[in-house]
Amino acid sequence: MPESTLRLPGFWPRLIKRARTTLNLPRLWRHWKNGRTDLTGAWPNRLYIEITNACNLDCIMCPTGLHILGRPTGNMEESLFRRIVNEMAPHVQQTTLHIWGEPLLHPKLVPMIRYAREAGIEVSLSTNATILDEARARELLTSGLTEIYLCLDGMDAATYEAIRRKADFATTVANIERFIDLKSRHGGAVPAPKTHVQLIEMAPTRAQADAFRAHWSRPGVDHVNVKAFDSWGNQVKEINRLRAPHEGAERPDRWHCPLLWYHAHVYVDGTMTCCDRDFGAKYPLGNVAEAGSVMAVWNGAGMKALRAKHLVNDLKDVPPCRGCTEWSWWKPGPFSAHGNAPGDR
Ligand code: SF4
Repeated sequence: MPESTLRLPGFWPRLIKRARTTLNLPRLWRHWKNGRTDLTGAWPNRLYIEITNACNLDCIMCPTGLHILGRPTGNMEESLFRRIVNEMAPHVQQTTLHIWGEPLLHPKLVPMIRYAREAGIEVSLSTNATILDEARARELLTSGLTEIYLCLDGMDAATYEAIRRKADFATTVANIERFIDLKSRHGGAVPAPKTHVQLIEMAPTRAQADAFRAHWSRPGVDHVNVKAFDSWGNQVKEINRLRAPHEGAERPDRWHCPLLWYHAHVYVDGTMTCCDRDFGAKYPLGNVAEAGSVMAVWNGAGMKALRAKHLVNDLKDVPPCRGCTEWSWWKPGPFSAHGNAPGDR
């Protein structure tokens, strides 16, 4: 599909949407602050869509890479994706097309990006960049993609290949450098995506963070993202070993997790969960494909009951939340919903 056929919404629809999503923030904040469990009239601030949970790598900090996801591997049907976009486009500023898989493996990735962008949603994704060859790079640069995270955990082959098992350091670096180079020369009508090069700060990479920042700060890279280590709810021993000793301590002042008020996570089969830390969907909150809409689940019985449990800190039967410490990364304000962890995405 040529770039010129991409029809992005015009100035006024974008302005109206921006006003609507900005006014949604104080509504969400009030509901979170007042501990309201039914959020009718408000919309999620972030929408995560898992278009695939397949991956080509076996990364040591990832439940997919460790083969403990515990869900069937597959791709989201394009029809389900379109239904989600159609419903949420008027209300959500941006969607993220990855949760527990490598999005470049989805054969319909580019048409999905284009569909969402034409519907008026900005699109972000994170990729391990191992299959980001020249053709894919050119396609992504003209797809309308708003933001891309190119993940490279390490400054040398030994570090990187021990973390991102099955990947080849030289190939990934070449892919990232080519993408940045093509992006720098991109002059099409469709703006190129904001580009982040990312390193996750964990035991094997911590000492390399400064060198990584210095090396990748260059034209074409909008941001070098040194991302805080995520234990995924403190549920997997092998993953916990990778974090710094001072991280992950329980906090006595636990507040109800804002993610249940602000974010919506939809998995490949339409299942919604509290957040991506429920990687195995052990605590499903409803299914978008069955319920017919995202908002029916977001304001459904499962979601409301879990919000109520958070309000009284009764989480012993909620596997992803009970040992989680990452909830403390978020404390929203009336007009802000960003996380406060370094490199929050
Ligand atoms: S407590 Fe942790 S696992 Fe539960 S919703 Fe919040 S961040 Fe996710």
